[in-house]
Amino acid sequence: MKLYNLLTVYPEFFESFKSHGLIKKGLDRGLISINVINLRNYTNDKHKRVDFKPFGGGPGMIIQYTPVKEALKKIKSSKTILLSPQGKLLKQSKLNELSAENSITFICGRYEGFDERILDNLVDEEISIGDYVLSGGEIPAAVIIEGLTRLIPGIPENMESINNDSFCDHLLDHPHYTKPSEIDGFSVPDILLSGNHSEIKLWRRKQSLGATYLKRPDLLKNVNLSKEDDRLLQEFIAEYQEKKSD
Ligand code: SAM
Repeated sequence: MKLYNLLTVYPEFFESFKSHGLIKKGLDRGLISINVINLRNYTNDKHKRVDFKPFGGGPGMIIQYTPVKEALKKIKSSKTILLSPQGKLLKQSKLNELSAENSITFICGRYEGFDERILDNLVDEEISIGDYVLSGGEIPAAVIIEGLTRLIPGIPENMESINNDSFCDHLLDHPHYTKPSEIDGFSVPDILLSGNHSEIKLWRRKQSLGATYLKRPDLLKNVNLSKEDDRLLQEFIAEYQEKKSD
């Protein structure tokens, strides 16, 4: 069982998150547990405030050290992640690494962010989900939990499909098609209807290499292409250029 603790000032945010899809399945099957902790329960302030004005002046409010420290005291050995746009950018490789943890605690920020002493003294890692600023850490925490949940055996219907997804082997996924085989004059590549599974496998590998080459060439720098991959990619590029010049 994987335990995810969430420290937040908006505990209700996670109600709908917990009631759909793979997250619900993981919870129902007892493979994950989500423990939402209201930071406001750990303040002595009579109005249940956990934020205060910044020293030195300026706009916005800052989440205080004490409520976070007191809330964390109740949690037994858990990796502590603070969500922040200043953190290390989330990638699939980080999700793979975090999937080994049995318990992770996410500290969701709001307002102008946190008292820096929280980051310096109470946290193992600072993670960002992208180079943009959201108004809270709840969505970033949900993104990470969703990404981790689909890596847990027994939660997705088909682990094989997970292992073929984009980024698993530093490549993007190949294109997919389903019924009908012809619609509005657009057809499915013949090979996919051929029943020749070894040829289909090769075609998919070629498309996966090609999609990565066209959409995310930066990823190809991290892959050691086999001789066959190299040949497939060259074939893809030649076919692509021919199609473009038609
Ligand atoms: N003043 C902060 C800064 O510029 O670095 C931004 C604070 S933001 C408005 C409020 C909270 O949203 C942050 O403390 C963090 O928890 C969360 N947040 C916003 N953008 C994020 C991102 N890209 N990744 C992870 N968390 C984010």
